[in-house]
Amino acid sequence: MAEYEYETHDYDVVVVGAGGSGLRATLGMAEQGLKTACVTKVFPTRSHTVAAQGGIAASLSNMGPDHWQWHMYDTVKGSDWLGDTDAMEYLARHAPAAVYELEHYGVPFSRTEEGKIYQRPFGGHTTEFGEGPPVQRTCAAADRTGHAILHTLYGQSLKNNAEFYIEYFAIDLLMDDDGTCTGVVCWKLDDGTMHVFNAKMVVLATGGYGRAYFSATSAHTCTGDGGGMVARAGLPLQDMEFVQFHPTGIYGAGCLITEGARGEGGYLTNSEGERFMERYAPNYKDLAPRDYVSRCMTMEIREGRGVGKGGDHIHLNLSHLPKEALQLRLPGISESARIFAGVDVTKEPIPVIPTVHYNMGGIPTNYWGEVLNPTADDPNKIVPGLMAVGEAGCASVHGANRLGSNSLIDLVVFGRAAAIRAGDVVDRAASPRKADKGQVDKAFDRFDALRHADGGTPTAELRLEMQKTMQEDAAVFRTAETMANGLKRMTDIAGKIGDLKVTDRSLVWNSDLMETLELTNLMPNALATIAGAEARKESRGAHAHEDFAERDDENWRVHTISRISDAKVDLSYRPIVTDPLTTEEQGGIELKKIAPKARTF
Ligand SMILES: Cc1cc2nc3c(=O)[nH]c(=O)nc-3n(C[C@H](O)[C@H](O)[C@H](O)COP(=O)(O)OP(=O)(O)OC[C@H]3O[C@@H](n4cnc5c(N)ncnc54)[C@H](O)[C@@H]3O)c2cc1C
Repeated sequence: MAEYEYETHDYDVVVVGAGGSGLRATLGMAEQGLKTACVTKVFPTRSHTVAAQGGIAASLSNMGPDHWQWHMYDTVKGSDWLGDTDAMEYLARHAPAAVYELEHYGVPFSRTEEGKIYQRPFGGHTTEFGEGPPVQRTCAAADRTGHAILHTLYGQSLKNNAEFYIEYFAIDLLMDDDGTCTGVVCWKLDDGTMHVFNAKMVVLATGGYGRAYFSATSAHTCTGDGGGMVARAGLPLQDMEFVQFHPTGIYGAGCLITEGARGEGGYLTNSEGERFMERYAPNYKDLAPRDYVSRCMTMEIREGRGVGKGGDHIHLNLSHLPKEALQLRLPGISESARIFAGVDVTKEPIPVIPTVHYNMGGIPTNYWGEVLNPTADDPNKIVPGLMAVGEAGCASVHGANRLGSNSLIDLVVFGRAAAIRAGDVVDRAASPRKADKGQVDKAFDRFDALRHADGGTPTAELRLEMQKTMQEDAAVFRTAETMANGLKRMTDIAGKIGDLKVTDRSLVWNSDLMETLELTNLMPNALATIAGAEARKESRGAHAHEDFAERDDENWRVHTISRISDAKVDLSYRPIVTDPLTTEEQGGIELKKIAPKARTF
């Protein structure tokens, strides 16, 4: 058994992750006087949220009429009727208040002439329950909205005495025999010391797992660590087959060009110079939702109308926009295009291709962020002491496809909701449960085994195999054959975890070991993705199954629940929540407005 000395810390709440969701939760907890720690493997303002460009959705009506019910309808339709209706109502209803709160905390939003928060159009956001024209609902701080939000929330959290543990890597959750989460075990990266955090509530805010793929817009730190920890604790993941490909990743580099570029008037063209989205989506054109635009681009390329030498990408045109608009509204992407594609956006189109961008699936929660462990008798069974928010969680508001600018609002609305809930359920007078010694030893044993791993496969090699497999077999379009093949390949790859080779055995700044821990987290996320995809015999949102091209509400309007152990995934299904929070009489949405129908644009 591995012997590691460790320091113990006692808190009311420990938040793992300091992105938008983690910081909003941390701030909310601290504001209520809960003794709160935020543990993060990167410096807070380096979390992936910093890269969010386009903006945050809320029906403020600053640029024309809007209504929370229209936002809710768009989110329901965007999810391809797989989201949980209560959570989607909660999101749309609380979005305006959450954005005004950000404004009051100090987020420097761009402004209209009258000094109101500036809002831009984004894909899939419409008026009149999809019957009216597109709406300007996406609140923006130029094209650096995530950056502005993170810096503001970090400052506010410090002001409210939240305590930060920066460059601490969370290894595993501590679970009691009765299934309660009691804390988390961490490794301090810069001095190699070990830490056990005991808490009455642990909040996982660890972000997505884009790095399971070869080409992704997400940071290299997006390795699904929360999902990995949850899987090892015997808890399930939900709807993992739904992976969003963003239409406009820079060809080759994978960096994102925000949808805001099309919101500001940019458009896509094929090798014939045709604005092909007009053909596929006569109403919303380039601002149809992301899953749809990505599929249209892929079809154009497949049919021989891709641009470039290999005919394998598409052009995004911005050069017709006024120079001042580019400078004022899209300065960051003009810079990205110059650096990563060598393109001057005022003169030339940007080469783009659909690129992995967002994970709709994650750790199942209710709309308070409480983690669920569904059973046959109780599909909404709560795991005491554990919450998940942000991209790591699955509330589920994005269902089978997320609308642009609905993630940032998800981070703050549910980060805030988790704090409100914790304020109610955490017993401030009690002391946290002490960590179970056996559980702590188990975490250290796993850590130690990886530290001394001496097999035949270097971490980078196995990671590349996984990334290539996911890229090829769990792509924009999927067939029964590619997915069956992918599942087999991924099962083999996951089986090689036992053969890993780590060369650096030290404990201080050991990036080899950290990347190995991350790979052990990516692996269950990737496996659940391909297994869930292989099993789902329909097309819905981001899951485009060529052998089952239609959506099948009768059999498949259900959440996929995957439990992963070693290289095996056990699948079951959980009903979606169809009831909104409020009835029509209470001012809620008319049910017939959100009844499933064909998703056309
Ligand atoms: C390039 C890009 C642009 C985007 N633009 C937009 C946009 O304009 N609008 C929009 O709505 N959405 C956008 N999105 C999506 C959105 O930004 C993300 O979904 C969101 O920022 C995720 O936030 P998060 O709080 O869940 O996690 P992240 O911001 O990814 O933060 C994760 C945190 O967890 C910590 N962490 C992870 N693992 C561990 C561990 N093992 N131990 C300790 N700490 C750990 C990290 O240190 C980090 O602090 C964009 C995404 C990308 C990639």
